[in-house]
Amino acid sequence: REPRQRKPDWIRVKAPVSKGYHETRRLMRDLSLNTVCEEAACPNIGECWEKKHATVMILGDVCTRACAFCNVKTGMPRLVDPMEPENVAVAAGKMGLEHIVITSVDRDDLPDGGAGQFVKVIQALRRETPNTTIEILTPDFRGKMRPAIEAICEAGPDVFNHNLETVPRLYPTIRPGARYYASLRLLEEVKSHDPLIFTKSGIMLGLGEQRLEVHQVMDDMRSADVDFITMGQYLQPTPKHAKVEDFVTPKAFDAFGSIARAKGFLQVAASPLTRSSYHAGDDFAQMKAA
Ligand code: SF4
Ligand code: SF4
Repeated sequence: REPRQRKPDWIRVKAPVSKGYHETRRLMRDLSLNTVCEEAACPNIGECWEKKHATVMILGDVCTRACAFCNVKTGMPRLVDPMEPENVAVAAGKMGLEHIVITSVDRDDLPDGGAGQFVKVIQALRRETPNTTIEILTPDFRGKMRPAIEAICEAGPDVFNHNLETVPRLYPTIRPGARYYASLRLLEEVKSHDPLIFTKSGIMLGLGEQRLEVHQVMDDMRSADVDFITMGQYLQPTPKHAKVEDFVTPKAFDAFGSIARAKGFLQVAASPLTRSSYHAGDDFAQMKAA
């Protein structure tokens, strides 16, 4: 085993010890819900759960793919839980969420790629907590993209997020099983299907990408009419995962953020600890108020 890479000072995380953290954890266990916060070993879990902000991961905790950066288990997924949509809505109600982020593992084994469960979750949330704004972070629905997008857009989430994760050159090693242009097309199709839905995407930095490649990804996103962008530092969840090639400094993140704003994104989050769902609710509320 290789020694874990030493993290720079600016990657500081708060240990998850607060009362709010434990309450969130208990609620998720009681309702048999999984969160990407835990499964992806997110460094922000202490801060987010204290504030009762969690990203629920539907369709189980086992993924049919194995991306080189991701800590989620790979294998034969379990049956879809019919109680899940209701349980997500109950959790959102109990936590009093103004904004919820729902994501899922990839379910290449399901005929609809899991789109139907996203629809049911959105419908349950609209019914039970009509004031909660809904952000979904979906897989690429490989081979089933068009019907999946149509069904989900009809259900009407507020924000449709799909991450490009990295620059196209690194896809074969970092995101095998996915295609950069297919992911871009997904974002473009969401926007053309319903221009009122905000689209969002993100990439991780520190995987060996070049500065100009990041600029190109931003241009590609803008050509697909993507509204919001997130950029954060990749951290290696275990020694078996892809190595961190470099730690991007906070100053370099600021520079990427300024460039993204100049390119016309409506909302930009760029910092070492930015994750797709980090402060998503606060940012969305601010943007709506502006
Ligand atoms: Fe993780 Fe998503 Fe890749 Fe599955 S598809 S391994 S959940 S990043
Ligand atoms: Fe969960 Fe997102 Fe917060 Fe990480 S940033 S703890 S994944 S809500």
